[in-house]
Amino acid sequence: MQIYIDGKFYPKEEAKVSVFDHGFLYGDGVFEGIRAYSGRIFRLEEHLDRLYDSAKTIDLAVPISKEEMTAAIIETCKKNNLTNAYIRPIVSRGVGDLGLDPRKCPKASVVIMAVEWGAMYGDLYEKGLKAVTVSVRRNPAEALPPNVKSLNYLNNILAKIEANCKGGDEAIFFDTNGYVSEGSGDNIFVIKNGVIITPPTLNNLRGITRMVALEIATSLGITVHERNMGYYDLYCADEVFVTGTAAEVAPITWIDGRTIGNGKPGPITRQCMEQFKIVVQKEGTP
Ligand code: PLP
Repeated sequence: MQIYIDGKFYPKEEAKVSVFDHGFLYGDGVFEGIRAYSGRIFRLEEHLDRLYDSAKTIDLAVPISKEEMTAAIIETCKKNNLTNAYIRPIVSRGVGDLGLDPRKCPKASVVIMAVEWGAMYGDLYEKGLKAVTVSVRRNPAEALPPNVKSLNYLNNILAKIEANCKGGDEAIFFDTNGYVSEGSGDNIFVIKNGVIITPPTLNNLRGITRMVALEIATSLGITVHERNMGYYDLYCADEVFVTGTAAEVAPITWIDGRTIGNGKPGPITRQCMEQFKIVVQKEGTP
């Protein structure tokens, strides 16, 4: 495995960053998760736009252009002979001292890893996932905006731990106003009476797969409402699914002990899952 660090490739064992990097010391940095399907990178431009916007929000100057980042990502996939891959570009604040002041970090660092990747949830795409609503809240937009995909994922990890403890496959976050936000690493959709409902993106990450799901829903002629939701909407849903680069489109059939619909992935969820498979094979950066 060859890993890109600041313009050079290193074998896995030799790929190292400094313990003084503020990405390590403070979670000061941003990242992306991107997929390649059949040798084509899916929605690379959108992922890079989000990466650079995340960096801008935390006033982090990415040391290479989007074109250079694109070339480096393609090169990383090629060097590792990957066709179906999960790609992880990371931009960290870089090396500084033990203080948290980013002005002490003169140069940000870019790392790109890519690994072979298949379906994340195995047989759960057929059975459906169990989800648990968690007490930890998604960080509010007036703090670190959830649209920043930062290296600081502790909230999400706490949510995952809580879901694990309660027998869930995935966590469902609420925001500090009590509205449904998203999963620990995916966006959430509810289906009620043939209409798809999903929270607006102020309280969650603006997912690229979420956008694809919305495009699919439109192409299928299904009405979509972007609006706030509460527990009631989750528990009384006919169908629920989550979307993410790693999770793809995954059905949820159980939430906090309540069976969703008839306990099986519903017809609209299945249609979205099928269409998603077609879309990812059809497009991409070669
Ligand atoms: N929400 C969170 C917190 C995530 O980490 C992710 C994964 O990137 C998503 C949602 C889904 O976003 P995307 O579809 O762009 O992968």
